[in-house]
Amino acid sequence: MRTPEKASKEIRLIYGHDIKNMTIKLLEDYRIEEKIPSKDAKIGLKPNLVVAVRPETGATTHTEIIEGIIEYLQKHGFSNISIIEGAWVGDSTKRGFRVNGYERFTERYGVPLYDTKEDQYVKKTAEGITMEISKRILDLDYMINLPVLKGHCQTSMTCALKNMKGCLSDRSKRLFHSLGLMRPIAALNEIVRPDLTLADSISGDLDFEEGGNPVDTGRLLLAEDPVLLDAYGAHLLGFSLDDVEYIPLAEEYGVGSADIVEAEVIELNKPEKSSNAIPTRFSKRLSAYTAPDSACSCCYANLIHALKRMEENGTIHKLRGKKVAIGQGYKGKEVEIGVGACCAKAKHKVVKCPPMASEMMEMLENL
Ligand code: SF4
Repeated sequence: MRTPEKASKEIRLIYGHDIKNMTIKLLEDYRIEEKIPSKDAKIGLKPNLVVAVRPETGATTHTEIIEGIIEYLQKHGFSNISIIEGAWVGDSTKRGFRVNGYERFTERYGVPLYDTKEDQYVKKTAEGITMEISKRILDLDYMINLPVLKGHCQTSMTCALKNMKGCLSDRSKRLFHSLGLMRPIAALNEIVRPDLTLADSISGDLDFEEGGNPVDTGRLLLAEDPVLLDAYGAHLLGFSLDDVEYIPLAEEYGVGSADIVEAEVIELNKPEKSSNAIPTRFSKRLSAYTAPDSACSCCYANLIHALKRMEENGTIHKLRGKKVAIGQGYKGKEVEIGVGACCAKAKHKVVKCPPMASEMMEMLENL
């Protein structure tokens, strides 16, 4: 596991929907082959299979990411790779593997699948909380965390730090809930800290970790520091760090830095044009406040997240009778309210490509 002092402040970002190639490009740019300690290092991939559903629901990690990582690592001579995960209490990890066709990783690439629910556990204590952690996870030389950036009904959002909960026994998962999740999640990351996190923000759910309400964001993020990645992800979804208590707590416990001003964000490409921003079923209500014209999917998704936060905190009334312009069709056009560099001529605007949900909210709440 990586020590906090050694983690870089870089966050790599790539946009699009060719997920396997996007994954490979991120790994190439990061030069992961130079970071793994040895060719025979025990490398563990930790996806998010919290429930046994497909990634299109917005709940679980896209399998093309796993495929891209395995192919890239095997091409560079790394052969000791495994996939390790444990679903939430009440669902079966094996069913999650099956529903998502994980057996092909074993058949095609020789990569074994392990369920932490069936593992031996080692008791570890951090911040006064004793928890049972999968021995197989603790035995890894290099862990790649593959969370989904999405909403969560209890903790506002979930991404890198919370994905480590799948490394626990079911008994410890229950204990975490009885302790209110925030402090235990931060404490867990003191013990189990991934070397690298590649976050799936292709179509994470707007509200719930179990999915059903995906928003097409079309991007992947890669970083060494899980606290920094989560802090950045929170802003992308329109949350402040006060909304996601485990992030500042993890910083306080020395897991990493939540200071996104210090982050070096490296964009490997620009957001994809999409001919039409099509709101998903649940975001339809919020789309009433938008006037998209050739908006890129991630830009439009950030706006939907901003509107959702405004609905939650009671400021959405500021937009009553108004519409927010967004998209490449607004280049050079004068409008009342617009978000994104394409709406640079709007009277009220956020000129960035693409703006984060938190930046959009700041402008919209001050109308
Ligand atoms: S500002 Fe314009 S080009 Fe940039 S992401 Fe938004 S819609 Fe796309």
